[in-house]
Amino acid sequence: MEFGKCLCGAIEYSFDRSKVISAHHCHCKDCQRVTGSGKATIIIMSKKYFEVNQDPKFFEVLGEQGNHVVRGFCPNCGSGMFSYLKEHPNMVFVKAGTLNDSSWLKIDSNFFTDSSCDWNRPVEGVKNHNANPGLASNLMMAIKSLIK
Ligand SMILES: [Zn+2]
Ligand SMILES: [Zn+2]
Repeated sequence: MEFGKCLCGAIEYSFDRSKVISAHHCHCKDCQRVTGSGKATIIIMSKKYFEVNQDPKFFEVLGEQGNHVVRGFCPNCGSGMFSYLKEHPNMVFVKAGTLNDSSWLKIDSNFFTDSSCDWNRPVEGVKNHNANPGLASNLMMAIKSLIK
């Protein structure tokens, strides 16, 4: 099992690494703002494989592609923990930096490269998507993983 937590330790979660569908660097402006950095790194999996000791505080925004992005963060220390789309509530996007050990993580692609900063360019060697490539394609992968 993989474990992660917020900075103050109030919120802790775990999941089985084999249930991870994909991982991505997201360069959208919202991720830049909430992380205070050039990008967020997210791990996508089905919510049913994600266990958390308590709900974080959620903040909902209308994402760049018309989805409602619900971002969860620790109300005590402010750490961004995980997000989901209101339209696809059974999928969870975990912030990779909150993992206790993320050394195993492999990044599949970059999202929203159009809005990447010159001082934090998309990593090379993975696919680039000008915008979110689609939840559609990710959800298809998700569905396949649920069937197997
Ligand atoms: Zn905290
Ligand atoms: Zn983003």
